[in-house]
Amino acid sequence: MNRTFSIIKPDATKRNITGAINKIIEDNNLNIVAQKRIKLSKEKAEGFYVIHKDKPFFNDLIEYMTSGPVIVQVLEGENAVDKYRKIMGATNPENADDGTIRKKHALNIQENSVHGSDSNENAIIEINYFFNENEIISN
Ligand code: ATP
Ligand code: MG
Repeated sequence: MNRTFSIIKPDATKRNITGAINKIIEDNNLNIVAQKRIKLSKEKAEGFYVIHKDKPFFNDLIEYMTSGPVIVQVLEGENAVDKYRKIMGATNPENADDGTIRKKHALNIQENSVHGSDSNENAIIEINYFFNENEIISN
């Protein structure tokens, strides 16, 4: 069992499809062991995406991620990081496989509905950026 960190992004909360996304997560045997709805501040979003700070899309990304509520989550299951990356699909929904969250729900390369950690190391860092251990309740 391991954990990954997930964000359901503003394009999805706006369209009222957080339940549809959670159903895909749960149907794939990942347990949602922590979850809260928040509005990211500019500072919090910039800290989260600091790795992309020199990319041309950075300012747009921060504006988008702070444009509405997000759902931050901790997912638990076997190979949670890799499994969730597979369930999410490619960053650009045009390249995402059938059956993935982004294929089904993403609007474009920016408004792509979900975030998932890309390594176990980053999962731990990202979970700790949003949650205290006592907020995470395993099944
Ligand atoms: P995430 O980190 O959100 O899980 P990812 O790992 O698939 O997504 P990254 O390369 O880490 O993709 O990019 C972070 C986010 O920045 C993307 O999910 C998307 O919202 C946005 N983004 C990435 N590339 C572009 C781009 N070329 N144009 C606009 N936005 C982009
Ligand atoms: Mg990423």
